[in-house]
This record gives sequence, structure tokens and C-alpha cells, in this order.
Amino acid sequence: MRSALAFSAAAAALAVAAAPSRPAPPFTTRVLHVTAADLRYSYRPGCPVGPAELRRLRIAYWGFDGRRRLGELVVRDRVVPALATVFRRLYAIRFPLRRVEPVDRFHGSDDASMAADNTSAFNCRYAVASGPKHWSVHAYGEAIDIDPVENPYLEGGLVRPPAGRPFVDRSRARPGMAVAGGRLVAAFAAVGWQWGGRWRGSPDYQHFSATGG
Ligand SMILES: [Zn+2]
Repeated sequence: MRSALAFSAAAAALAVAAAPSRPAPPFTTRVLHVTAADLRYSYRPGCPVGPAELRRLRIAYWGFDGRRRLGELVVRDRVVPALATVFRRLYAIRFPLRRVEPVDRFHGSDDASMAADNTSAFNCRYAVASGPKHWSVHAYGEAIDIDPVENPYLEGGLVRPPAGRPFVDRSRARPGMAVAGGRLVAAFAAVGWQWGGRWRGSPDYQHFSATGG
């Protein structure tokens, strides 16, 4: 109880410190190494890239509730500068993200991560698309899925995640949505990353990648 009261007092002090007239706290980013233990569910021997080539990229972002948060992405080392630039831009324009956690927090399940509206990057898995099995660009840590509920992947008549069904109609722009000509797509385009929403037939609105795949 005592610590709860102390916490409330501290929270109240912080609320005063964060009065609207004050500028927003700055964007922050931090790059950390990755161990095999960090990737217990998302990596196995035989995957195209491993812990030595991956990094944990910690970034500040804004939630849908307007509150500042810290998130973490696992990405290929060579795309860290580009993604740090993108997230700095998204922070500046207060683009909302639901949560940003490595897919290992979801035991490597893409479905669970998407259902939680989680923004994530590296996952050693095959591409969802039909045809011969091949690695997803996520398996290289060079693709990222942004707000999957607001930006579902429409593939083979399915809406992935199913919670994204209200967002299949792309004509009405709502917070968190990637739209052609919009600021999210522009932030990625500025660093040369391409958007899966342009794929005809099976648009993947949540997906951005360095390779275009
Ligand atoms: Zn993706």
C-alpha cells in the first residue's frame, strides 16, 4: 500500500511535469545485441540469418491513447539506420502504434502477434503466400508489420488477423491505417522501403520491406 501511494505521488509529479505547454519528450532509440535465448521461438538452425546478424532496436512511440511508450523490434543489423529514421518520423507525426514487441513474446506465432495488433519484424518463417515454400522477408529481419489489425493481410479469401475485418474497407481512413499517399507509407518510402498494400489481388497492408517482397 505504502509503495502504491508513493507511486501515485510520483505519477502525479510526472503528470505535472508533462503539462501540455511542455514540449513532448524526445524520440529515443537504442540498439542492442541479440542472443539465441532472445530468439528461442523465432529462430532455429537453418534459418537464413541468426543472432549475430540481428539487433534489438528499442524505439519510443505513441500509443493509440496518446501516451508515449517504449517498444522493441528484432531486425537485421544493416536495416537499423533506415528503421530508426522511420520510427523517428512516426514519432514526430504521432502515428499511433498499438504495441511493439518481438514475436518471441508470442512464442513465435505470427497469428497471435497479429491478433494482438503487435508491430513486429524478424520471424524465421515461410512466406504466407501460396506457391512453393520460401522464406518470408521477415526471416531475414528486413520486413516489418505495422498495426496488423488496422492493416490486415488479405490472402486467399482470408483476413489476417480476423480482427482486421472492419478494416478491409480501406476507403475510410482511421488511426493506424496505412493508406496510399499517407504519412506511414511515405515514412517508409523515404528510406526506400516498399509497401505490401500495393500488391494487387492479395494486398498486405501491414507489411513493409527493404526488398519489396
Ligand atoms: Zn509482413
